[in-house]
Amino acid sequence: MSYLVLARKWRPKTFPEVVGQQHVLRALINGLDQDRLHHAFLFSGTRGVGKTTLSRILAKSLNCEQGVSSTPCGECQSCQEVDAGRFVDLIEVDAASRTKVDDTRELLDNVQYAPSRGRYKVYLIDEVHMLSTSSFNALLKTLEEPPPHVKFLFATTDPQKLPVTILSRCLQFNLRRIELEQISVHLATILKQEDITFEADALTALARAADGSMRDALSLLDQAISFGAGNVTAEHVHQMLGTIEQQQLFHIVTALINQDGKTLLQQSQELSLQGRDFNLVLNALLALLQRLATLQLVPDLEMTDEDDSEKLSLLSSQISPESVQLLYQIALHGKRDLPFAADPKSGFDMTLLRMLSFQPKKITTSIRDTDTASPLTEVQQPITPAVQPVSESKPHIEAIEPKKEIYHVQEATPEVVTENIKAEPISNTALSVDNWTSTIANLKLAALSRQLANNCAFIKFDSTKIYLSLAPELAHLATDKAKERLALALQQHLNSTVSVVIEHNDAQHQSSQTLATQQAEHETSRQQQAVESIHNDSTVDAIKHAFNGQVIESTIKPID
Ligand SMILES: [Zn+2]
Repeated sequence: MSYLVLARKWRPKTFPEVVGQQHVLRALINGLDQDRLHHAFLFSGTRGVGKTTLSRILAKSLNCEQGVSSTPCGECQSCQEVDAGRFVDLIEVDAASRTKVDDTRELLDNVQYAPSRGRYKVYLIDEVHMLSTSSFNALLKTLEEPPPHVKFLFATTDPQKLPVTILSRCLQFNLRRIELEQISVHLATILKQEDITFEADALTALARAADGSMRDALSLLDQAISFGAGNVTAEHVHQMLGTIEQQQLFHIVTALINQDGKTLLQQSQELSLQGRDFNLVLNALLALLQRLATLQLVPDLEMTDEDDSEKLSLLSSQISPESVQLLYQIALHGKRDLPFAADPKSGFDMTLLRMLSFQPKKITTSIRDTDTASPLTEVQQPITPAVQPVSESKPHIEAIEPKKEIYHVQEATPEVVTENIKAEPISNTALSVDNWTSTIANLKLAALSRQLANNCAFIKFDSTKIYLSLAPELAHLATDKAKERLALALQQHLNSTVSVVIEHNDAQHQSSQTLATQQAEHETSRQQQAVESIHNDSTVDAIKHAFNGQVIESTIKPID
C-alpha cells in the first residue's frame, strides 16, 4: 500500500489551515499583509506544535512569485519547492548538532549573501538555546544589523537559557500546547476526508495521549489506523495505548458506589485480559475523581461539553464529596505502591479493595445529617413567607414531619401577607406523589437544577409551598442557584407563585420515589434484558463454542 504518513500529507500549507496558535498567526499575517514583518521571531514551545510548519508557510508567503502576502499562491515554483521541503532559501538548522562557534560563523557568513531563488532567506534555528556563548555573540552581531533580505525564526523548548541580548531583539511567542478538543476535531476532519470510519471516543483518547502535540496526534492516528486495519475504534485505540475506556471507569466507580466487590474485581480482570497498563488506569481513575470533585464542590463552574458530562453529574449525585476525596487519596497511594506490589494487577486489585473497605457500608444511606441547625433548606420566592400563617395547616405539617421544630419560619412582612391573600390558591392535587416524577421530567431545567430535581422526592404540596426531600449526602446539589431555578420552573408549570422547601431527611427520603431512582431502575432493567438476550442468543452461543470464547458482560450495551 503506497501510503503517505498523515503528519506529512496533512501538514498545513496555508495560515488558515494551522490548528491553534491564533496569537502567532495574527502577528505573522498582519506583518505580512502590512509589509512590516519583524526580522526575528522566537517561538518557545514543546515539540510538534507547529514551529516548522509556521516557518515553511512564512517562507512561502515571503517568496511566492505572485508577491509577498499572507496568502501565498501554492502553485508557483517557489511555493511548490517550499511545500516539497527543497527550497534553497529556507535554511533549517538544528542548533543541538551545530553548537560550535565555527558552525554558527559559517552559517552567518552566508547570511550576507542575497537569496539564491527568492526574495528572502528564512532561517529556522531549532533548539536555539543549545548554541554556545561565542555562537550567541556571533548571532547577536547579525541580529543587531540584520540584512534586509533575512528573516530569523528561532525555536526553543527552554527560552530561559537564551541571553537577554538575543531575547530583546526577537519578537517572542509562546506556542501553546494544542487543546484536546482542537486536536480531536482536526483528527475527525482528516478521517472524514480519508474516508476512514472512526468513533469519537477513540479520537479523544488519541488527542489526550498526544498531550498538545499535533504531530504526535497524527502519528498515533497513523498507528491506530494500521492497528485497527483501517477502522479507528475506541477499543482498538485503548488497546494500542494501554489506556482505559471512559465507560470502564464509570463501571468501576459505579461498582464502588454500589459496594459491588464482585463487579469490581471482574472489571479488574477484564482490564488485565485487555492488556491495560494499570498505572495508566489509575491515572485515568484519578482524573475522573478529580472531575467529580470539581463538579460537586464548584458546581457553578462552566461544565464542559464532553459527551460524558451527563453521566458524570449522575455519578456525582450518587456519591458524597467526602467519599470522592477518600477514593482519590486511595487511588493516589495505590499508584505510588504499584511498583512494590507482587504484580501490577494484584496491586490494582488491592487498591480497589481498599476503596471498598473504606467506603461506608451503604453509601447512599450512611451519612446522617446530625447538624440540626441546617437540615432544612428553604428557598423563598417573593410571596412565600405568608404560607405559615394559615393555622389549620400546621398540625398537618407536624403529623407528616417529625422534625417540625427545625423549620425556618420566615417573618412575614405585612405587605407580603396581603399580596399572598390576593394570590389565587391552586388545587393541592396539581402536584402529588403520583405525578411528581412525570411533572419534573417535563420541566425545562439545566444541568445542575436538573440533577437537584431528579434526586428530590415529593413530600407534599399545600398550594403555595412544595415540600421536597433530598438525601443528606446529596445536600451539595441544593445550591442556591439550582434551588432558585427549580422553584422558578415549578412556578411556571403551575402558573402560580409557589416556593420550594427542601428537607434533608433520610428516613423520609428512603420511602419516596425520585426521578433519578426511577431512571436508574429503568436502566438496570434495560441492561439486564440486554445481557439476557445476549446469553440467550443462539448465534452468540455458536460463536462462543467455535472460538472457545467468553462474553464480557460489561461490554454489553442496550440499544433502542
Ligand atoms: Zn506562489
